[in-house]
Amino acid sequence: MDPIVIIGSGLAGYNVARELRKLDKEIPLMVISSDSGHFYSKPMLSSALGSKKTPESIPLNGPEQMSGQINGPVRARTYVTNLDPAQHMVRIGEESVRYSKLVLALGADQLRLPFKGSAAERVLTVNDLDDYAQFRSAIKDKPMVAVIGAGLIGCEFAHDLSAGGHKAAVIDIAAYPLSRLLTPEGGAMMQRKLTDLGVTWHLGTSVESLDADRERTRVTLTNGTVFDADVVISAIGLRPRVALAQAAGIKTGMGITVNRNLETSAADVYALGDCAEVEGLVLPYVMPIMHAARALAATLAGKPTAVSYPAMPVLVKTPACPTIVSPPAAGAAGKWDVTATEEGVKALFYDASGKLLGFALNGKATEERAALAKLLPPVLA
Ligand SMILES: Cc1cc2nc3c(=O)[nH]c(=O)nc-3n(C[C@H](O)[C@H](O)[C@H](O)COP(=O)(O)OP(=O)(O)OC[C@H]3O[C@@H](n4cnc5c(N)ncnc54)[C@H](O)[C@@H]3O)c2cc1C
Repeated sequence: MDPIVIIGSGLAGYNVARELRKLDKEIPLMVISSDSGHFYSKPMLSSALGSKKTPESIPLNGPEQMSGQINGPVRARTYVTNLDPAQHMVRIGEESVRYSKLVLALGADQLRLPFKGSAAERVLTVNDLDDYAQFRSAIKDKPMVAVIGAGLIGCEFAHDLSAGGHKAAVIDIAAYPLSRLLTPEGGAMMQRKLTDLGVTWHLGTSVESLDADRERTRVTLTNGTVFDADVVISAIGLRPRVALAQAAGIKTGMGITVNRNLETSAADVYALGDCAEVEGLVLPYVMPIMHAARALAATLAGKPTAVSYPAMPVLVKTPACPTIVSPPAAGAAGKWDVTATEEGVKALFYDASGKLLGFALNGKATEERAALAKLLPPVLA
């Protein structure tokens, strides 16, 4: 029997494999991954300095151990070049691998802006362990890091760099940090608390150019500010990896389009994680992956199962400003009710009938997260 082939060894790929093994110990299974095949918690990449982790101490298991755990081969450093759903085959260059069922757990790419200037190519992004190792070696003994993007990952890196003894200068076109997730009051608190750690901010502006000045990079902003950084890192958002599916004629939108059973438009091909768009939702976070992995494992084991998502608040890993968000669905009608004090910000999003649809909590207000989460509607019932 041809194996179930999972492409991707991130949290999505490995969690499907592990969940499937709980239900079926024997069904042939293979993981193929273009990266090192280590099993690790990706969220740790933006908090590792503060928790004194190195790129070597972050992974929980190597590919050999994972192969033992999932009872199937893990082909690491192996890039799938094409999919052939009609033949039930994936191609790795000239080699073809047959599958009975195929799981696409391809993740997402960090967005990269086409910067002007002679140092544009120096900009780093951190999206996997290899990137992280490169980032850590780049910042070694280098005090000043420019962080492009004041979203969740940018703020976490700024906090973590400060915890690791670096100076972070954060640049964002928005007027305040985490502008897509927090109200202005919550953003102001985040800005204040990270400023206390030594973070500097360039908000309401963007990068005009990045120019090499020997080892350093001269950062010129559109508002005319110029400063030097040792390292520049960009964290401005993600783009689901859809190219492989698209080239094979599989339907894609913002991500690889799947239904509630995580089925793509091609027979026996499924997708989950950062690459997938489930009923119009692209949710690049850990909790949706855990729910999707369990549902898909049941489907692969022979019991078709639809995924459902409860409310899934996301913790922002900025301990100096504890923050938890559960944004309302995109386009939801309603308004924010904000209570802001020195100790915390409680922002609650209600619809016209008074139903709570989302929240954004900072500081002391995060103590109410469990009680508030119980009032939220499921993301996908
Ligand atoms: C710095 C950082 C901090 C984060 N913090 C949080 C947090 O605090 N909370 C939270 O909920 N979420 C957080 N996230 C998001 C979360 O980590 C991701 O949603 C999750 O890890 C994505 O897992 P994935 O398996 O879908 O994708 P990935 O981990 O990106 O895995 C994709 C896999 O596909 C493989 N692949 C891709 N193309 C091919 C190909 N053609 N051939 C073979 N293999 C291929 C890759 O090698 C990789 O193994 C964070 C993300 C980052 C980057």
